Amino acid sequence: MTQSVHRSAGVTVRAAAKINLHLGVGAPRADGFHPLATVFQAVGLCDDVTVSADEPWEIQVSTPSWMPDGAVPTDASNLVARAADLLSRHHDVPLGGRVAIDKAIPVAGGLAGGSANGAAALVALDRAFDLATSDDDLLALAAELGSDVPFALVGGTALGRGRGELLDHVADGGTWWWVMVPSAEGLSTPDVYRHHDRLRPDAPVEPEVPHALLEALAAGEPLALARHLHNDLEAAAVDLRPELGELIARGESEGALRGMVSGSGPTVVFLAESADHARDLAGALMRGGHDVVLVANGAVAGAHVVTSYA
Ligand code: ATP
Repeated sequence: MTQSVHRSAGVTVRAAAKINLHLGVGAPRADGFHPLATVFQAVGLCDDVTVSADEPWEIQVSTPSWMPDGAVPTDASNLVARAADLLSRHHDVPLGGRVAIDKAIPVAGGLAGGSANGAAALVALDRAFDLATSDDDLLALAAELGSDVPFALVGGTALGRGRGELLDHVADGGTWWWVMVPSAEGLSTPDVYRHHDRLRPDAPVEPEVPHALLEALAAGEPLALARHLHNDLEAAAVDLRPELGELIARGESEGALRGMVSGSGPTVVFLAESADHARDLAGALMRGGHDVVLVANGAVAGAHVVTSYA
């Protein structure tokens, strides 16, 4: 049976990019997924998703000039379309509307931009159609949508287990400044995992929780955090794209506390000591020939409404 729903005309929801302060990857499970022990942090580089409920169904994407055109699909494969489909089936109501995605998060960059859009779409559609989905149900739908989508909903800093969808809050005592350098061309996450499996046939069944990193986070101490940042996928990403290793070395020689590949890459993130340090480092990298260098701090909130109009 199809119910009728009240709709409010427009809602804009903002959702942030994530970086993995730690990404421990185990041997692939029988279902093909890799068990993870990861520490996510949401950083202030955000996409906005606006649902206009009274318009016909359509996905529009706008991107900054430095992003390649056409990188984000506007068909049923877009995560916002899949989010709409899941939510519609969950409530047994038809959901329509124009969905405008305003992108700032690099596509296929290891920053979970698609997941941020999926999380934002779940919240925006829920509010625009007054569905009152419970938080638990939203989290379950998010986990169905993708491993990184639950974190995009909750934001902050969190420990992720399972495929990354099982989240625990962690103490975070700092304001962390990041300088991010995207690549002109994305890296396929499955390709990086496959390469990692080839490089690490000895990966553990269950990766370990990074206790020393969690202590550094709680203490809010940048030098300690820098020492404990770790990404198991970095070797695979750098092997596929050797220039990422050169970029990490360049950023560290310019004074970054530490550089690392974000998630499956190819975005490289550098930890800075302060806002001023981040700005100086970004300037040095730009003078060194990197046209697009982004600065953001963390942790920031998960998917949240920024505008709502009737
Ligand atoms: P992940 O590590 O979760 O794969 P990522 O940051 O490396 O994330 P995304 O920006 O999420 O990569 O994009 C991965 C692929 O997902 C893109 O190549 C694109 O084809 C597809 N995609 C589907 N929906 C979206 C969306 N709304 N925004 C960006 N990419 C999307």
